[in-house]
Order: sequence, then structure tokens, then C-alpha cells
Amino acid sequence: MLKDNLFQVEERIREACSRCGRSPEDITLIAVSKTKPVSMIGEIYAEGIRNFGENKPQELRDKYDLLPQDIRWHMIGHLQKNKIKYVIGRACMIHSIDSVELAAAVDSQAAKNNLVMPILAEVNIAGEETKFGLHPEEVMSFVNEVSTLKNVRLCGLMTIAPFVDDPEENRIHFRNLRKLSIDIRNKNIDNISMCELSMGMTNDYEVAIEEGATIVRVGTGIFGERDYSAAGAQSI
Ligand SMILES: *Cc1c(COP(=O)(O)O)cnc(C)c1O
Repeated sequence: MLKDNLFQVEERIREACSRCGRSPEDITLIAVSKTKPVSMIGEIYAEGIRNFGENKPQELRDKYDLLPQDIRWHMIGHLQKNKIKYVIGRACMIHSIDSVELAAAVDSQAAKNNLVMPILAEVNIAGEETKFGLHPEEVMSFVNEVSTLKNVRLCGLMTIAPFVDDPEENRIHFRNLRKLSIDIRNKNIDNISMCELSMGMTNDYEVAIEEGATIVRVGTGIFGERDYSAAGAQSI
């Protein structure tokens, strides 16, 4: 049962919080529902979860239109400029902003829709060749430029840590992301808040919480393995 998976994740979040003296209320759990059908999302929704994550703009749009309006959709995947229109007005936050150009394109689409779009800067904190994201040394100039945009609000940082067998190996990366966010916060830049640290997935969310995550993104741990090969994988 999906709800048993969810309860187990919630229990492990509580345990991680108690290990490091944090409150579970300070952690937002995003149920990452990419490739999963609306029926499964409905099961998790019925247990009180309201934050869901998708990595494809059209899939987010389609699910948004089919599911209850009080769901908070998070765009967590790589975003192309021509697809921004699908997520503005539907997503509550875009986690995957990795260039000033993309932030500016989101800003102009948000302006057209007369709203201010909350965003996170995606950081390639471990410097992996194959990953999207700003390199740590680029983040400060990114932040300075984005602070001038009127229709986006930079709320914090996001990272996808390396895929490792032992989650302890990622502790240093989570710690480094938190240090970076503190450095930025200490500069007190207008329009920049740095309240959110979106880090930790099924494999490593407990370590991420111990290192200061405010948002964890859990897919497999709630919904089970994803099947990208099945014909139904793209259906909703
Ligand atoms: C798929 C995905 C997740 C969830 O991954 P799991 O290992 O299934 O928990 C989290 N964040 C991003 C950006 C993803 O694309």
C-alpha cells in the first residue's frame, strides 16, 4: 500500500529531525509523482499530502488540470524556455533555475501572467560533469543578477546530489550547499531570501535533513520504482 510507504517516510523524517533537534513541521515533503498516474497521486493526496513534484512541464500541466486545486505543484526538472508557459500559474515553485537567461525568461512570462514566481537556484554542488546546475563559484553573480528581476523571487538553493550507495557520502555536499546559502543570506541582497534548501531524495533525505534541508523530494520511497520503458509511463 502506498500509504504504508508514505507513513514510513514520514516516520523516518521525524526520526532524522529528532536526531538533530529540528521540528518536522520545518520540513516540507514533496511527493515526486513523475511518470505516476493520477490515481496513485490521489491515494497520497487522501493521506493529506499537498506538495507534489514533477519534472516535465506538460505532465505537470496535465496533472494540474485533472487533480484538486489545492495541490502545490513543484517543477523540479530541467526546464526549457519554450516550456515555461506550461508551469507559470500552475507550479508554486520552480526548483531548477540554472542560468540568468532562464530566470529572465521566467520573469517575463510571470510578468505577462501578473504574478511573482518563487524560484530556487539549482546548484551542481559536487561539480559532476553530467549534471545541470550552476557551479558553486557562479552562484553569487547569478544571485546578484536575479535580485534585479521583478517577477521572480529567489527563495533558496536546490541540488541533486550524486547517486551513491552510501548516503553518508553526500553529507559533505549537503553541508556545502547550506554553507553557500548562509554566505548568500549574509549579504542581505534585496529580493533574495534563502529560506529554502531543497535537497535529499529517497536515497539520502535523512542525511539531507540532518544537514539542514527544508524541502525533501521523495519519489521512489513513496510511489515505488519508476518504469520509463512501459508504454503507460507517459500516460497520466
Ligand atoms: C526524480 C527526482 C526526485 C525523486 O527521486 P527518488 O530517488 O525517486 O526519490 C527528486 N528530485 C528530482 C529533481 C528528481 O528528478
